[in-house]
Amino acid sequence: MSSQRGQLAALFVALLAIGTGCADRNEAGDTSEATGSEEVTEPLSQRPEDTEVWEPEPKRVRSDREGTPPSDATVLFDGTNLTAWSHEDGSEAGWQVQDGVMTVVPGTGSIRTRQGFGDVQLHIEWRTPAEIVGDGQGRGNSGVFLMERYELQVLDSYENRTYSNGQAGSIYKQHIPLVNASRAPGVWQSYDVVFTAPRFAPEGTLVSPAYMTVFHNGVLIQNHVELQGSMAYIGPPGYEAHADREPLLLQDHSNRVSFRNIWVREIPAPVSGSL
Ligand code: MG
Repeated sequence: MSSQRGQLAALFVALLAIGTGCADRNEAGDTSEATGSEEVTEPLSQRPEDTEVWEPEPKRVRSDREGTPPSDATVLFDGTNLTAWSHEDGSEAGWQVQDGVMTVVPGTGSIRTRQGFGDVQLHIEWRTPAEIVGDGQGRGNSGVFLMERYELQVLDSYENRTYSNGQAGSIYKQHIPLVNASRAPGVWQSYDVVFTAPRFAPEGTLVSPAYMTVFHNGVLIQNHVELQGSMAYIGPPGYEAHADREPLLLQDHSNRVSFRNIWVREIPAPVSGSL
């Protein structure tokens, strides 16, 4: 009996050893058994540096203080003149420039940049009149129109209720801001915008829509929202094919809204950081 038990124990140990051996081979990635190949392949191994990408190296951009134009920005208004701007019909811009600030002169018309832009990062500072006149849409109304068509609303929305998709920070009649970050009338405010232009096929059909991300006084109010088309005051918005680059436009809406420190950076195509 004892020799039979010994033989059984030896057999059990042998079976165990075979089982353990199989598990070791599988963990090591040896697939020779599975493929039936005679060759024993090396285990797969990856090093950290295998997924490092060194080229291209991002070019250096100097940025001394937040809000001031980085070294690669196109400055559209530095407080001195309106040479980067014209009336929307191409004639001289009629707005006032004084004390480093440009201000809407009601009735002189909207102004637009002489240069066109596509995908941009935009910084713009604005101020609605300290003296409150009017209410709702009639109080401190202007607008920042990307590509002359896509309006980011400028309005005195400090304790001034209007329709939510028309208040400050709305993409006019398309997207309500996530929160109301408005400061009091007469206080400077800022918009920082990331704008992706729409793409059109050569025959004019829409390939991809426009997108906008907006920070109002540093607070996120629009998070990569998809635009449904050009601003429409009446009726639904829609796209109409246009050039890859179009001017930035600031609206004369009959209120003396001021602007300063306006700059854009053109956004290059993204560079992949994976293999
Ligand atoms: Mg407006």
